Amino acid sequence: MNNIQNIYCPNCGDRALRVNSYEAKIMRTSCPHCDYLMVQCSETGKVIEAYAPGLFPSGCSQLSTSSISR
Ligand SMILES: [Zn+2]
Repeated sequence: MNNIQNIYCPNCGDRALRVNSYEAKIMRTSCPHCDYLMVQCSETGKVIEAYAPGLFPSGCSQLSTSSISR
């Protein structure tokens, strides 16, 4: 059973969705406006997966640039 909440995206401030899955014990926050994604364990609060285009500028793009220059 899933519980869906309307929240504000912590990344861009627009409307985002938080889905609480009681069976899987995970909480998934996703924003369609900026591709923000956060998957947390709803029991421990531990972050399983997180992706935010604006919050992590030193992510994939920088890694791929440095590997090309070598
Ligand atoms: Zn957003």
